[in-house]
Amino acid sequence: MAQILDGKALAATIRGEIAARVADRTRAGKRPPGLAAVLVGNDPASHGYVRSKHKACLEHGLHSTVHRLPEETTSSQLLDLIDRLNADPTVHGILVQLPLPRHIEKEAIVRAIVPTKDVDCFHPENVGRLTTGFPRFYPCTPHGVVQLLNRYNVPVAGREVVIVGRSDIVGKPLAVMLMQKPTADNPAAGDATVTVAHSRTDNLAAVCRRADILIAAVGRASLITADMVKPGAAVVDVGTNRVGHAWMGDVAPEVAAVAGWLSPVPGGVGPMTITMLLYNTLAAAEQIDG
Ligand code: NAP
Repeated sequence: MAQILDGKALAATIRGEIAARVADRTRAGKRPPGLAAVLVGNDPASHGYVRSKHKACLEHGLHSTVHRLPEETTSSQLLDLIDRLNADPTVHGILVQLPLPRHIEKEAIVRAIVPTKDVDCFHPENVGRLTTGFPRFYPCTPHGVVQLLNRYNVPVAGREVVIVGRSDIVGKPLAVMLMQKPTADNPAAGDATVTVAHSRTDNLAAVCRRADILIAAVGRASLITADMVKPGAAVVDVGTNRVGHAWMGDVAPEVAAVAGWLSPVPGGVGPMTITMLLYNTLAAAEQIDG
């Protein structure tokens, strides 16, 4: 049976490390790292995500504010709020929860956040820095996946990685991180041989079977079945799919009998994503306030 990549346990360890560093800063008379979350509209899943992020901040000594705006908020009202948060010295990280209502132009909002406070790492300047090997921040979900692999000692350098999914939030930045050469400026780089698969990939099963590390970031329950997995491979399941009242990943349960390592859903990548958001908010405070 696969060894479990326990994101809940690892998240608790890393959150402990973050809380200790936050407490040191506070003792030294510095402001606590502050996160401002902005939520527009009534999407229940988004409200749930923002609640979890807010709670995690407060539990670990970070300052957290949530700005809940009605569905009919205009782009210009949202841009005004972002301007205020950009200028607020108690705010080190700004997070605009996606998706935004359709009448708001997402790209303009993402670009309005000052890059030094862009803790999601969505701003083109930060994407460019990541891609050229000088990250200011690592994007939260890809960084959570890399931390899971590294802290469970899954060999990555030189290995075949297959990532299923090419989104700007997960698949694409994760491919960039895992393919790059590690340097002092880019310590989380993986030195792996990376293939990115997507909905147009021919013979997905054969591509996946090449992987020493298979990462599923699609959003389709049980897309990855046991016959698609090389025996002993590490399988990281990023997918979160609501099936009835339960959450399921993109990886079918029977994969546990074939894989060498497997991240569960829930309790795998999810808690790691929020943890890396706290990590980035602390990093932003260190970069801004010293
Ligand atoms: P997304 O933007 O919808 O991207 C999905 C990707 O999967 C696309 O590249 C798409 O290909 C590909 N795809 C769709 N059907 C496929 C198929 N049958 N075979 C192969 N590839 C297929 O989704 P996302 O934002 O990356 O999120 C992916 C999943 O991860 C979702 O379940 C999401 O909820 C979850 N997620 C979890 C966390 C966490 O913290 N746990 C964080 C972020 C996302 P095309 O590009 O060709 O359309």
